[in-house]
Amino acid sequence: MTARIIDGKAFAARLRGIIAGRVARLRADHGIVPGLAVVLVGDDPASSIYVRSKAKQTVEAGMNSFEHRLDAATPEGELLDLIGRLNADPAVNGILVQLPLPRHIDTAKVLAAIRPEKDVDGFHAINAGLLATGQKAMVPCTPLGCIMLLKDQLGDLTGLNAVVVGRSNIVGKPMAQLLLQKDCTVTIAHSRTRDLPAVCRTADILVAAVGRPEMVRGAWIKPGATVIDVGINRIPAPEMGEGKYRLVGDVAFREAVEVAGAITPVPGGVGPMTIACLLANTVTATCRAHGLSEPTEFGI
Ligand code: NDP
Repeated sequence: MTARIIDGKAFAARLRGIIAGRVARLRADHGIVPGLAVVLVGDDPASSIYVRSKAKQTVEAGMNSFEHRLDAATPEGELLDLIGRLNADPAVNGILVQLPLPRHIDTAKVLAAIRPEKDVDGFHAINAGLLATGQKAMVPCTPLGCIMLLKDQLGDLTGLNAVVVGRSNIVGKPMAQLLLQKDCTVTIAHSRTRDLPAVCRTADILVAAVGRPEMVRGAWIKPGATVIDVGINRIPAPEMGEGKYRLVGDVAFREAVEVAGAITPVPGGVGPMTIACLLANTVTATCRAHGLSEPTEFGI
């Protein structure tokens, strides 16, 4: 068997088009332009690239992008003051603080300072609680993107066995909550799980969010399963030249593609969905802030 390749890049492009359509209607019908503020502290090159890409896609969707680049030595109090101003600014509907933050800043304190309604990353404890209790939450972008891809591939997920490998607050746990909401039977596996290969083999839906290059082997996959590979790992690629790297997921793709029914590639699978879902969350936050009906066209 050769698995169907789930094209996250194409799906994300379609989603951005749908988002741009909703943004255009908000502007035309209500004079509202959604605004996303992105805060970057320091000059980490990877973070800087992410922030640039987020700002570019925000503007392309017709929204306002407010970029705040702060020096690496910025005191925590100054960052909290900025968040306070963004919380109070009606032109800002979404606030994202790019992680990781420098060591002298308490990340939990900063994330807790963002108003939950503007927390488009969905990392605030209030949003985690709302999601866990099946209420209107801001849902973390990466798991949101994964559930969109799964719904698109499989339609009704009711009764399917889903295994999520990884229990982080930003991917594994919210992913499990979303699968539960879709009536899957959900197992969360982690570094202390016994006989992980056997657990994975029970999965109709297998989500790998581990951060270990190609850890999930082909032999761990139930034939025909749908595999969502969240991992993004940079590994040395001397075959491409000295000092070169390539990206691989948490799943051994070449083996998995022979067994799975459908699989996301890395790159080009889950990755592109994350920023598209950030834009979707910003639009959702804007609609909620103005008491307008929530977008139903985002496909979850
Ligand atoms: P974390 O490091 O926060 O969590 C990793 C999880 O994997 C932990 O729960 C850990 O278990 C578990 N784990 C680690 N080793 C093993 C093992 N040997 N067997 C079973 N479980 C294991 O990572 P994140 O959730 O933040 O990210 C996971 C991956 O997803 C990374 O590759 C990251 O780069 C990628 N990512 C991709 C995004 C995208 O846009 N596509 C966005 C966010 C992340 P324990 O809790 O027991 O330690």
